[in-house]
Amino acid sequence: MTEFEIVHKDLMGRIGKFRTPHGNVETPTIMPVMNPNLMSIGAEEMKRYGAEMLITNAYIIYRKVNLREEAVKKGIHSFLECEMPIMTDSGSYQLYEYKDVEVSNKEILEFQQRIGSDVCVPLDIPTAPYVKRERAKDDLEETVSRMREARSIIQNKMLAGVVQGSTFLELREESAKRVAEIGFDVYAIGGVVPLLESYKFDELVDIIMASKKNLPLNAPVHLFGAGHPMLFPLAVALGCDLFDSAAYAIYAKGKRYITSDGTRKVEDLRYLPCSCPVCSSHSVEEVKESEDLLASHNLCVTFEEMRVVKQSIVEGSLWELCERRCRAYPALLNALNHATKYAGVIEKYDASTKKHPFFYLGETSAHRPEVLRYSYRLNRFKLSGNVLITATVGSKGKEVESGNYDYVFFVKPPFGPYPAELSESYPVGQSEIPAEIDNGAKTAALQNVLKLLELNNGKAKFVFAYDDSWEGHPLIAEIGKHAVVRLMKGGDD
Ligand SMILES: [Zn+2]
Repeated sequence: MTEFEIVHKDLMGRIGKFRTPHGNVETPTIMPVMNPNLMSIGAEEMKRYGAEMLITNAYIIYRKVNLREEAVKKGIHSFLECEMPIMTDSGSYQLYEYKDVEVSNKEILEFQQRIGSDVCVPLDIPTAPYVKRERAKDDLEETVSRMREARSIIQNKMLAGVVQGSTFLELREESAKRVAEIGFDVYAIGGVVPLLESYKFDELVDIIMASKKNLPLNAPVHLFGAGHPMLFPLAVALGCDLFDSAAYAIYAKGKRYITSDGTRKVEDLRYLPCSCPVCSSHSVEEVKESEDLLASHNLCVTFEEMRVVKQSIVEGSLWELCERRCRAYPALLNALNHATKYAGVIEKYDASTKKHPFFYLGETSAHRPEVLRYSYRLNRFKLSGNVLITATVGSKGKEVESGNYDYVFFVKPPFGPYPAELSESYPVGQSEIPAEIDNGAKTAALQNVLKLLELNNGKAKFVFAYDDSWEGHPLIAEIGKHAVVRLMKGGDD
């Protein structure tokens, strides 16, 4: 029986049912990080925010004798006073941050097993971004060998396989392939926290894609350390299912107020732009003064955003959500732009028809998987005789349209040429575009016009009619090499 069942999909994002010994978890979801030394919000209380699974650091428990003994005696669930599924981290982050982990891979795994963790994590070696390739490769070899060892130690528990490789995409690919070969219940993309902290979201996109392309589809993928909600839409769209959040507490400690489109210093707030139970029942002054209230708000908005993401998957509007959210920060917009370079990969996973209309929301929409798919399918039109392609609005171009043609195509940005039969179907017929279209939409449409001409070169005679809204676009001259082009001036008819 597979432990991960996909229930809904959009782009590479999915809503899944993940079966654990402590019950099913619906993904994508956030696992709040439970630090046994500082728990302002208890594990059981996390349910009220929407948590379905928790994560705690086995190493932090292990290194303190009293905590270690208590956890062994009670088991991790009673230790945290919670029956939710619990994933345990191994101390890799401490290894990375403080370089002084006094525990072996074997010891920490056996400990995780002994305390009854639902998902154990091996002690992998996180490699920082931008190190020398040799270093990244050596670390990777060590990580892979620890993954193999982990697989032989952990028998009755679920186990996560961690992908490393620093910022070297071929190493990330290799790492993903090798952990996939070993076979794990969960896959985790590690070593990305420094990229998150420096807003290198475009590189994060590359790393996620290099990993995802090589990981099996029937297991959840955890993006380690990505707890800020502003990243959820894009990361989920690229196929990440599990997130952990220590951010809600760390940000609260730093007096920062999380929103779905960024973070604000709480001291700068004059209003609370949120209606969560904290913000609707406390004054801005009260929130400023209480770290607990701030942590509680941060957690509320974190789970709220994940629900928004999930609803978008169900209705097929996850791209639109990415478009809206990624406009909050230039670095996020850059990442979304960057993600469009992978439209060909995303297209393979994406549903070919959706309930939600295709909304054109700016140039990034011109590179959506749907537009690329439409371009791939232009070869289905086998044309002969006289063909009119008309990119004119309303009555303009009537004369041309009344001519004697075997085929007539209309042009809708960003898709390009389509016959009347497709005017009702997804995506062309189910798309909404602004009246004033940008150059990105025009370019995508004209590239597809060109493609249709080239596909039928020598088989059909083309007339391309366009109105002045297209005038001056450089691709018109290119089209003129394969078709008779006619500019239909407004008011001519
Ligand atoms: Zn709030």
